[in-house]
Amino acid sequence: MAKRIRRAAVLGSGVMGAGIAAHLANVGIPTLLLDIVPRELTKEEEAKGWTLEHKQVRNRLVNQALERLLKQKPAPLMSKDNIALIETGNFEDDFHRLAEVDWIIEAVVEKLEVKKEVFARVDEVRTPGTIVSSNTSGISIAAMAEGRSEDFQKHFLGTHFFNPPRYLKLLEIIPTEHTDPAVVAYMKSFGEDVLGKGVVLAKDTPNFIANRIGTYGLLVTVREMMKGGYSVGEVDSVTGPLIGRPKSATFRTLDVVGLDTFVHVANNVYENVEGEEKEAFRVPELMKTMLDNGWLGSKSGQGFFLKQGKDILELNYVTMQYEPRQKLVTPAVEMAKQAKGTAAKLQALVYADGDRAGTLLWNIIAPTLLYAARLVGEIADDIVAIDRAMKWGFGWEQGPFELWDAIGLEKSVRKMQAEGRDIPAWITDMLADGATSFYQTKNGQLFYYAPGGYKTVEESEKVIHIRRLKETRGVIKKNAGASLIDLGDDVALLEFHSPNNAIGADIVFMINEALEEVNRNYKGLVIGNQGKNFCVGANLAMMLMEAQDENFFELELAVRQFQQALLRMKYNPKPVVVAPFAMTLGGGAEVSLAASHIQAAAETYLGLVEVGVGLIPGGGGNKELYIKRLNSLPRGVDVDYVKIAAGVFETIAMAKVSTSAAEARELGFLNHRDGITMNGDHLLHEAKQAVLSLYEEGYRPPVRKKVPVAGESGYAAMLLGAQSMFHSGYISEHDLKIAKKLAYVLAGGNVPYGTEVDEQYLLDLEREAFLSLIGEPKTQARMQHMLVKGKPLRN
Ligand code: NAD
Repeated sequence: MAKRIRRAAVLGSGVMGAGIAAHLANVGIPTLLLDIVPRELTKEEEAKGWTLEHKQVRNRLVNQALERLLKQKPAPLMSKDNIALIETGNFEDDFHRLAEVDWIIEAVVEKLEVKKEVFARVDEVRTPGTIVSSNTSGISIAAMAEGRSEDFQKHFLGTHFFNPPRYLKLLEIIPTEHTDPAVVAYMKSFGEDVLGKGVVLAKDTPNFIANRIGTYGLLVTVREMMKGGYSVGEVDSVTGPLIGRPKSATFRTLDVVGLDTFVHVANNVYENVEGEEKEAFRVPELMKTMLDNGWLGSKSGQGFFLKQGKDILELNYVTMQYEPRQKLVTPAVEMAKQAKGTAAKLQALVYADGDRAGTLLWNIIAPTLLYAARLVGEIADDIVAIDRAMKWGFGWEQGPFELWDAIGLEKSVRKMQAEGRDIPAWITDMLADGATSFYQTKNGQLFYYAPGGYKTVEESEKVIHIRRLKETRGVIKKNAGASLIDLGDDVALLEFHSPNNAIGADIVFMINEALEEVNRNYKGLVIGNQGKNFCVGANLAMMLMEAQDENFFELELAVRQFQQALLRMKYNPKPVVVAPFAMTLGGGAEVSLAASHIQAAAETYLGLVEVGVGLIPGGGGNKELYIKRLNSLPRGVDVDYVKIAAGVFETIAMAKVSTSAAEARELGFLNHRDGITMNGDHLLHEAKQAVLSLYEEGYRPPVRKKVPVAGESGYAAMLLGAQSMFHSGYISEHDLKIAKKLAYVLAGGNVPYGTEVDEQYLLDLEREAFLSLIGEPKTQARMQHMLVKGKPLRN
């Protein structure tokens, strides 16, 4: 039987090897990272008098990779401390140490002979039962395993991560006919539960699933662009969010990936398939020229786009000059922009015959859908695997078959037939059988079409879909901002669903309602949602309006009610678990801080950012972060309240936002009992389990205690720093004013050091400071700027 993975090794410390090692470190797995020994000395090494035998030289490549990991953006490491889990070495001195690990991942150059050589050596040193995998983008897994021992072959498979491994969700797992099914099953659950990935089983065919279809789609796009005389910028303007794809759309994505990498991947299919399909993968002359010119994209400074100062220019592929970016604006695009939801937008576009944007999109989408349909069975078992691979690998909102349902299967097939396009038989049979969509939901269960009839979409029991829960169970209570839902097993869920999940009176009202309902009928409450972000803060627009109208009475009431709701939540007799993810800012962070327990997604960007709009937190965030940091200190040590207050001051005054849940813990927003969930899809499940275990343990809310504060000496210390920043010109006068208010609140006002004060007193200080700031014209200007421009104003 395969080993359980406790230690790992990554072979090759290039782009992918280093990124994979970083992600393993992110999940706490000690990892040995190896690369080849350089054959030549650098000038610096020579100058130092080193030889090729010097350890630093021998480990040069891998050590450089480690340095890159610390600098790279977006950060591959969730916490810089994680780097300590990566040990470096080289292919000559340290190869024998592969015997110590449970999983060996190969990420060396994409050449079969090199990979085979590496695996022959691995076979010699690995201990039986060690899982071995390749991160190849498309070389045959079976070919790599040829000639290897039986135990190796049983434990060998493809594990294809996408770049960057921390952020892209897809992990394609590719077994061979010799891979032990138990190893495949183990790696699937390891990938999902431990690495937090979306795992898709792929067949051992060129480029597997996502890159096969993705490359095809991109090449179709390039050809259609040139055929129709569209510009690069025009194409990107309609192949991004408008049709449910990332902002970087087509060519900006390609610039990031790198044209060299793309061409390599395309050629791999070209060399391995025949006939019409082969032609589809022939790289166009344009791309070959760009490759010859070294216009590879971001890494070489120019590609399909060129950044010039503030401007981004697009490549004119006729003149090969860069020009101002163009956008495609047509009646169908205007209609689509007005339409609600991606399905309606797509429908407005793809059937708009004669419309320049509509024609382009139809001519890109139709062949790609048909291509995906032809590959079902060949590259993956079913349409679900294909849809998931495209969504998780490319950040598409919908996979091809979901998109096909969205534009209407029957209608689109009629159009395709009218144009003489070749429809795969299984689809015409499907329609003849009366099945008119690839997916169906019945009683909250999702089914997909497979020849012979609909089958259940298999999903981990850890995946909860709020939308489906609502469809089957309805809601307990709701208003415009939030809904209370039964999560099952006597746990309730409060879901925020206001625009941007911003907190307003409706959400505050529902927090109170939820607590009442939970205390009567449930074991506990989860606060979570499945929007884009957990919550971006309070409803800024509403607050600004009230402030400009000088409705300070209403504002004071709103802030007071928010404070009271969170205080009530903190001391609620039944546990409340908050499940933040993605952006969790301002009020969203305050809701989290008031929880009995935080269960955060690994990708949580949490912070009290009110200073950016000229305010300070008003919902108890100052007090709670201070108390949380205080409580995280071991009992019995001498506590320096000034130091604690100053630390919190720095976090809030600089509006620090964590770049991960691990960093949120370093900032004190999470403590060591709070949980981190690697797989965002499992978040609500794990939050619910946290409620249940708190309940089973006989949950008691925290005891109401007075809070010792830093007082006058703390205020003076905090102010000193702010004043010196003001005098050296780092912060504005208004910044200093905000800093003073914040320092006063965090110090607990004008009291002697160590005074024990009531929480309500601290809330009152905070509310007063908040209200005085919101009356300031400069604060209002900051709020206005944020609402209009989406970024902070320095004034
Ligand atoms: P890279 O060029 O950044 O790194 C290649 C690594 O191989 C380097 O560490 C290099 O020192 C090492 N190497 C070079 N020659 C070697 C040899 N003879 N023996 C052993 N090692 C040698 O490449 P990468 O982009 O990290 O790709 C690594 C693997 O991951 C490839 O199989 C690639 O297809 C695959 N992949 C790449 C991406 C991507 O976007 N870059 C995505 C998914 C998969």
